[in-house]
Amino acid sequence: MTQIIDGKKISQEIKDELKEKVAAYKANGKEISLAVILVGNDPASQVYVGNKKKACEYIGIKSLSYELPEETSEEELLKLIDKLNNDPSVNGILVQLPLPGAIDEEKVLNAISPLKDVDGFHPMNVGALCIGKEGFVSCTPAGIIELLKRSGVEIAGKECVVVGRSNIVGKPMSLLLLRENGTVTVAHSKTRDLKEVTKRADILVVAIGKPKFITAEYVKDGAVVIDVGIHRNEDKKLCGDVDYESVAPKCSAITPVPGGVGPMTIAMLMNNCIHSVELNK
Ligand code: NDP
Repeated sequence: MTQIIDGKKISQEIKDELKEKVAAYKANGKEISLAVILVGNDPASQVYVGNKKKACEYIGIKSLSYELPEETSEEELLKLIDKLNNDPSVNGILVQLPLPGAIDEEKVLNAISPLKDVDGFHPMNVGALCIGKEGFVSCTPAGIIELLKRSGVEIAGKECVVVGRSNIVGKPMSLLLLRENGTVTVAHSKTRDLKEVTKRADILVVAIGKPKFITAEYVKDGAVVIDVGIHRNEDKKLCGDVDYESVAPKCSAITPVPGGVGPMTIAMLMNNCIHSVELNK
């Protein structure tokens, strides 16, 4: 029978563990705080920021909210980041993406101190992951490793195929699977005969950004399938990059959408906030 990997339940377990850790810090007089910066009025971003603040509240992390108008200049934003970088009471800094067009996203992300970069997007943290040093790891791929481990899926020695090579999902995902001793292949839009590649996978991670792209013929019998994609289909229902109905009966384990990878991202963000206390010691 196919194991449905329950990201909602696992993320709740993680949040409860983190809540205890935060309480222990508080008992020692240490409050953990996350600065959340939102520029503009993008409704999806407002929802994401709201969810992050809610998670902070649940765990006991103080969230400092900076909601800036659409016309905020790059200079003003960089000034705020500099202030937060130098404020010892701030542990983590998060800038919600996307930023309004006039602001250079890369410049802004690179301005965040690598020691407070809880999204794990700063080149120093990406480099640290690459050479196996300590740092912040991008939340979605870090969450996928937790999902696999907590569902009893062994990674060491397995054929792992990651479809997608974005900086926030595909690339860090492949590095993390390698760190866990998987044999890793990264596929992308220029991969020849994608089916032949994905059918080799014991563990298949899909982060393409195309609804229901991966159907049963891409998947080996008994594979573990992790679906990172998130889309709203014609009936306003959420679906992933994997055609769940055709793929699920073939695999040993699969993440649903919603309720799979999605909830893990925020849980790992909270984990990174706590990790920032260790890194800043
Ligand atoms: P990007 O668009 O940045 O990257 C997509 C990747 O998929 C690229 O590397 C691209 O290849 C590859 N790709 C596109 N088409 C094909 C194809 N036909 N065959 C093989 N590879 C292909 O997306 P993200 O990585 O940011 O996100 C992927 C999905 O995950 C999206 O649906 C996004 O919404 C979702 N997501 C979900 C999160 C969560 O918390 N659940 C968090 C982040 C993302 P190439 O490089 O050659 O162009």
